[in-house]
Amino acid sequence: MTRIVPQPGIMDIALYEGGASRLEGKTNVLKLSSNENPLGPPEAAREAFARAARDLHRYPSTDHAELRAAIGEVWGLDPGRIVCGVGSDEIITFLCQAYAGPGDEVIHTEHGFLMYRISALAAGATPVEVPERDRTTDVDAILAACTARTRLVFVANPNNPTGTMIGEAELRRLAEGLPEGALLVLDGAYAEYVEGYDAGAALIAGRDNVVMTRTFSKIYGLGGLRVGWGYGPRAVIDVLNRVRGPFNLSTAALMAAEAAVRDRAWVTRCRAENARWRDWLARTLAEMGVPSDVSTANFVLARFADPAEAEACDAHLRSEGIIVRRVAGYKLPHCLRITVGDEASCRRVAHAIGQFKGVR
Ligand SMILES: *Cc1c(COP(=O)(O)O)cnc(C)c1O
Repeated sequence: MTRIVPQPGIMDIALYEGGASRLEGKTNVLKLSSNENPLGPPEAAREAFARAARDLHRYPSTDHAELRAAIGEVWGLDPGRIVCGVGSDEIITFLCQAYAGPGDEVIHTEHGFLMYRISALAAGATPVEVPERDRTTDVDAILAACTARTRLVFVANPNNPTGTMIGEAELRRLAEGLPEGALLVLDGAYAEYVEGYDAGAALIAGRDNVVMTRTFSKIYGLGGLRVGWGYGPRAVIDVLNRVRGPFNLSTAALMAAEAAVRDRAWVTRCRAENARWRDWLARTLAEMGVPSDVSTANFVLARFADPAEAEACDAHLRSEGIIVRRVAGYKLPHCLRITVGDEASCRRVAHAIGQFKGVR
């Protein structure tokens, strides 16, 4: 028997499965399983990435000053309170590593993003799952689940994979009701898809117990580069910077992200295109007898009669070369999460679901 064993909690982690991108024997595969922007990144980001190739022998910046300044300018935030990470996944990891350990509790919602549980377990802490109400974050249930051991409360707003979100008054009520010593983490991975939503910035401005995480992987179309960031109280950002590796982000990633965030017109265009085709897709599926909650993000959570029907529909889509996301791991075995693609992609997936339902 080996005496080489990992820390407690590690072996409780179920391996994360990314959205598939290949289908055996299929060409012209349509991948709608990872909430990627069908339009990709803005051209300026590709150009910045190419420019970075000239200096591959140089170490990157350690303080990310230029990217933080750009983010601060665009979103009206203090760059001194921004920390950048290898995707927002890394910010989530930093938060768990820095604030939660053995005996501590980390709250996430019933259908919340799997990385919260994984990062909590990796830090040796105890994940606590809180029920949602109609696939929507339930502030009262979260407050009821808080204990003196609660260190972190993760809420994705909008949430993945449900697509639902709660309003600013509810977020404030949650922040105000948390026990002392608990930090609210607002995951704003899809915030840019919601016109006028500040992802919690105003709430953070007046409090010391709220942070937000953001990403370049979704609306900016840079999932392959891995850039995310966090914003919060100066004291929290200082803590996160202490656990952050000095060269966590590559020069190419920093340069491309900076160019992307400065291209505000791109975000406006992608938000509008997404809203248009998301609403078309949801309406079209509903007419076929496949309902979904009103989505505020870049995907639709399609609901089927039962897990068997969802599975059969997924199998049909695969036979048509279309990959969507099974979400049984999110306790939604009767649902499929479908990323909003461009017009042709939305029409193709709707057509295939129509075939499956026998209405087209
Ligand atoms: C996609 C997603 C992220 C982004 O993760 P990155 O590491 O930044 O690519 C974060 N949170 C949620 C809820 C997501 O769906």
